[in-house]
Amino acid sequence: MSNQDWPLYPPAFLGILGGGQLGRYFVQAAQDLGYQVCVLDPDPNSPAGQIAQEHLLAQYDDEDALRHMAQLCSAISTEFENVPASTIDFLIQQGVFVAPKSFAVSIAQNRIKEKAFLQSCEALMGIGPVQYACIENKEDIDSVADTLFPGILKTAQLGYDGKGQQTVHYVEELQKAWEVLGKVPCVLEKKLDLAFELSALIARGYDDEVHILPIAQNIHKQGILHLSMVPAPDLNAQLQQHIQVAAQTIIRQLEYVGVLCIEFFVLQDGRLVVNEIAPRPHNSGHHSLDSCLTSQFEQQVRTLAKLPLGNSRLLTPVVMLNILGDIWIDEASSVITPPGWEKILTMPSAKLHLYGKSEPKKGRKMGHINFLAASVDEALEDANKAMVTLGIKPSGK
Ligand code: ADP
Ligand code: MG
Repeated sequence: MSNQDWPLYPPAFLGILGGGQLGRYFVQAAQDLGYQVCVLDPDPNSPAGQIAQEHLLAQYDDEDALRHMAQLCSAISTEFENVPASTIDFLIQQGVFVAPKSFAVSIAQNRIKEKAFLQSCEALMGIGPVQYACIENKEDIDSVADTLFPGILKTAQLGYDGKGQQTVHYVEELQKAWEVLGKVPCVLEKKLDLAFELSALIARGYDDEVHILPIAQNIHKQGILHLSMVPAPDLNAQLQQHIQVAAQTIIRQLEYVGVLCIEFFVLQDGRLVVNEIAPRPHNSGHHSLDSCLTSQFEQQVRTLAKLPLGNSRLLTPVVMLNILGDIWIDEASSVITPPGWEKILTMPSAKLHLYGKSEPKKGRKMGHINFLAASVDEALEDANKAMVTLGIKPSGK
């Protein structure tokens, strides 16, 4: 849709590529502001497709579907990291405003490009990516530096929630792991001694206005986000300053409009490094649905409509606990039973979110609970009680 007047006012149609839970919250945030939403996702039961005004059941490279989407929508964003760059470019050619653009998305969806990009920002922001080597052929394996062991071999593309990753300790193991991963392009990262993990969600408007959401401290279990704590208990003023500079540098260097997530590692020796970026809202920002004046999803809507950004100040300490499909499934019998939500719903601090997915699977994100309390410690206590109630194995902090 060309010749559009900006900012875009409701009830205009906004489009979203991808229909997962991130898309579902985008739809809700857009509808809260009076917009209509069109979702493109091939899954007929997709969480976002279920609630959007229009659900286009098509593949991401279906030109007829994309043409229709571009006709209907005044602006389109993405919730799905692996949307082909050509899809975004095709929509732009149709005259529709798409944010973020394929330049940024294609960097974020390929670890080799992503690492090179982060290295190129290092001089500007004073911190860089994890030490790494590209592994694309046998010669790369043979010439790998010993200092990268023990390391984590990660596929350059299509990895998420720790999938497509193998820990390796020496060259022969690296060779085997690369074969197991299908000899696709990979990066080998040094396995670092992490003290803790942080993430920043940053929104940038078309006019270069930026806003950073409160930084989250994250705990992962088996490569999957387990819980996020805000305010981040181990964050100090100096780390906060470094993260703010890094986040602004990265989003501007990417010429990015929309909401971007940047994951950081803090090492045992106190050093800060950038882990990875995601070109969309992020699981570690789900707390903002209940804890911030403006959620990450509302920021995404505002950037897309070319409206001013909101203020995402924290209204209350919060702990977000992820709910995976594992707790539906009885280990011994494989029988599926829904968890007893009553015990969670009666907790005074708990706000339950479920994504409308009908098929629980191990490791599949089914929902999350935000615990809102007077302090992160109190919220954490309640999260621990809920874990016992639901049979979620507690971890670390
Ligand atoms: P994904 O794309 O699946 O989120 P990540 O690269 O973020 O992949 O890895 C998932 C988690 O695995 C991280 O949040 C961290 O806990 C752990 N991890 C990843 N890379 C390293 C590393 N180089 N050293 C130590 N831990 C790591
Ligand atoms: Mg990650």
